[in-house]
Amino acid sequence: MPSASLPSSPLVAVIGGGPAGLMAAEVLGAGGMRVELFDAMPSVGRKFLLAGKGGLNLTHAEALEAFLGRYGTRRARIEPLLEAFGPEALCAWAHGLGIETFVGSSGRVFPAEMKAAPLLRAWLHRMRGAGVRIHVRHRWRGWNDEGALLFDTPQGVHAARADAVVLALGGGSWPQLGSDASWVSVLGARGVAVMPLRPANCGFDVAWGAYFSERFAGQPLKSVVLTFTDPAGVTHRRRGEFIITAGGVEGGLIYALSAPLRDAIAADGAVTIQLDLTPDREPSRVIEALSRPRGSKSMANHLRRVLGIDGVKAGLLREYVSAADFAEPERLAAAIKALPLRLNATRPLAEAISTAGGVDFDALDEGLMIREMPGVFCAGEMLDWEAPTGGYLLTACFASGHAAGRGALAWLDAQSKINM
Ligand SMILES: Cc1cc2nc3c(=O)[nH]c(=O)nc-3n(C[C@H](O)[C@H](O)[C@H](O)COP(=O)(O)OP(=O)(O)OC[C@H]3O[C@@H](n4cnc5c(N)ncnc54)[C@H](O)[C@@H]3O)c2cc1C
Repeated sequence: MPSASLPSSPLVAVIGGGPAGLMAAEVLGAGGMRVELFDAMPSVGRKFLLAGKGGLNLTHAEALEAFLGRYGTRRARIEPLLEAFGPEALCAWAHGLGIETFVGSSGRVFPAEMKAAPLLRAWLHRMRGAGVRIHVRHRWRGWNDEGALLFDTPQGVHAARADAVVLALGGGSWPQLGSDASWVSVLGARGVAVMPLRPANCGFDVAWGAYFSERFAGQPLKSVVLTFTDPAGVTHRRRGEFIITAGGVEGGLIYALSAPLRDAIAADGAVTIQLDLTPDREPSRVIEALSRPRGSKSMANHLRRVLGIDGVKAGLLREYVSAADFAEPERLAAAIKALPLRLNATRPLAEAISTAGGVDFDALDEGLMIREMPGVFCAGEMLDWEAPTGGYLLTACFASGHAAGRGALAWLDAQSKINM
């Protein structure tokens, strides 16, 4: 049962109205705090709403062990957050808002209506009812010398005081939706360790020829196996599909491997991946198929007939295989089974699905409070973790918002006892 805040209750400022900040605000409101939530944009939850456009993947139904593995080297940091508010708690919470969920064939969990808007609407309604006050068009830019929070508003600079602050300012992707990472310099100037922000779940640049780019941009490359070896000698191999863009590649399979690909480019300046265009056929069967007489048929027809290769796959072979190799079944088969594609750079952070890097967990205590800034908590994508798509991003954002809210409640409680 939420406890009602009193005029004398501590006042908490939550800055950032994405999933992490809203969750922190809800927890704080339910804990009896007076809560003022500030967001730079004219409305809250813009990236959350965008996430709902292609089907809001709230979380994932796989076993917790596998789920935790998705956070890679940050697993130990995320695990306690998910223990307190994990995938099952998140689904129960959504159900409490009247939003039914279902598990898709891949194990991904979606709201029944697929969209974010009904959930956000119900959530904001409940929060306002609980007394959380929301101030939009308030862009936070730091603290003044007296320790007040400073916001740029259409009416000028607004200074606000709070007994505790939760920062949930997002990463640096899609800055047009509000999260422009301007907090990095503000916290950096205060000596908070912030790991450099990098694109995660991002696309990559490939130097396509003009014809290939014009002809195939926007088309999916289906059912291929992507292999590459990272600078540490680890071979990554995964099956899936991705999209050709005018200047490169993006989409599911690329996003799934984007962290090691990004890191390989950072280390070596570029990375070469290999594509198996016929993953269900052994190399010997590809050679055998290509060696069949083609009579008067064109090579394009022959490829389509004997191997089912046409469209983008055929275009890729035309782009990367020399005429001499095309005429030689063994060499053409080798290209079909391991077509080398050089990725020259990540696409910019602004275009990425999410952000790697952020506030260093070592700078935070278990309640996600900045150790050197008592009373200031951090949550969401602005923390230094990353995860693939599949619902893992939102789950950790909700969980860290929940943890920061709980952390602030515990800290304020301890403060009140000290001051008694
Ligand atoms: C196209 C797309 C699709 C996605 N789909 C999914 C999906 O299906 N499943 C999934 O798990 N994840 C998905 N994500 C990722 C997910 O949306 C984010 O990880 C999540 O929204 C991050 O939550 P957050 O609360 O940390 O930050 P944000 O949602 O970015 O919210 C931060 C808020 O802080 C505000 N803010 C920033 N700076 C300031 C400032 N200086 N002053 C005041 N306010 C400020 C912003 O306006 C914003 O409202 C998707 C992302 C994109 C781009």
